[in-house]
Amino acid sequence: MEFRIIDLEKEPIDFDLELPPGAVDLGTEARQQGPLAVSGSAEVLHEHRGPRDVVADIRLRGQFDGRFQVPCARCVEPVEIPLAADFDLIFRPAAADSEATERSITAQETEIGYYLKDSLALEDVLREQVLLSLPVRTLCKPDCKGLCPRCGADRNSQPCSCDEGPSDPRWTALAGLRSRIESKEDSPQR
Ligand SMILES: [Zn+2]
Ligand SMILES: [Zn+2]
Repeated sequence: MEFRIIDLEKEPIDFDLELPPGAVDLGTEARQQGPLAVSGSAEVLHEHRGPRDVVADIRLRGQFDGRFQVPCARCVEPVEIPLAADFDLIFRPAAADSEATERSITAQETEIGYYLKDSLALEDVLREQVLLSLPVRTLCKPDCKGLCPRCGADRNSQPCSCDEGPSDPRWTALAGLRSRIESKEDSPQR
């Protein structure tokens, strides 16, 4: 869905949508499962910077609610998580801030983004909002054993035989050296 300044100048636009998976490009970080519900409203805010300098910002408020698959932080198996968040954002025309001027709207109440040309795509906003709301670290279960750093086996499903002893080959070399020293010490003196 595209919000055009020319339409928003006439009246605010309310929206209430269910976006199918794929409508929002989330890259590899998350995968949408089922419809993504999003609703809210878009309106123009005029920033008066001077007698002849009015900047048309787009204020976008709303919320989304959906289910997403993200990889487990330890074993990378997909984990399905619910995600929902509110947003209240301001988008300024990209050209408006090309010269550094004092802003009449501070970023304290709302975050400031930019829109290109004369419209703003809801899907672009949602991509950022969904990615921002992803938990830093998701585990498939609290005690996920993760992948073996040596053989790559998923320790949840196939216990591997490399979990005894240190993994670094240098340790193996040291251990060999040590056993040689010990055997020398054990050998009778001439
Ligand atoms: Zn896991
Ligand atoms: Zn292993």
